[in-house]
Amino acid sequence: MALLNILQYPDERLHTVAQPVAEIDERIQILVKDMFETMYESRGIGLAATQVDVHERVVVIDLTEDKSEPRVFINPVIIEKEGKTTYEEGCLSVPGIYDTVTRAERVKVEALDEKGEKFTLEADGLLAICIQHELDHLMGKVFVEHLSQLKQNRIKTKLKKRQKHNL
Ligand SMILES: [Zn+2]
Repeated sequence: MALLNILQYPDERLHTVAQPVAEIDERIQILVKDMFETMYESRGIGLAATQVDVHERVVVIDLTEDKSEPRVFINPVIIEKEGKTTYEEGCLSVPGIYDTVTRAERVKVEALDEKGEKFTLEADGLLAICIQHELDHLMGKVFVEHLSQLKQNRIKTKLKKRQKHNL
C-alpha cells in the first residue's frame, strides 16, 4: 500500500471531470486500498479519486473513528434526492477551511463495490452529505464552489499564500 499525494485547492486538476471505471481490476483495487490508507492517515471521512489526481469515478468513505465502516463507491450515481440540510464542511484538499453548505438531506445512490457488485444505498445525515461532497469532486467541483464568489476569492488567496510559504 502507499500514501497518495492529495491535490490542494486551487489546483486546476481538482476541476477535472472523472471518467467511469471501465473494469474493476487489480489496479482499481490497489487504488481503493491506497485511497483508504491516505484518507485514514489524513483523518478524513471521505476521499474521491480526483483528489489524488486519478480521474476515474471512485470514492471511499468511512465516518467512524475506528475505521470500522469502510465504504467503496465505484461509478456512483445519485438516483434520488430529498429535502434540504446544512452542514459545516471541510475537505482534505482545502485544509483548515470550514464553511456551511446546503445539500439534499437524503439521497439514494447506486454504485459498484470493489468486487464489482452493484448496490443501492439510501443515506441521510452525515453520510448523505459526505456522498454528495465526494460525488461533487468527481464532477470537478470543490465544496467552496458552493460559497459566494467573495468567500471563494478569500479562500484562494489564503491558501495560495500558505502554499507559497509552505506552511
Ligand atoms: Zn473534499
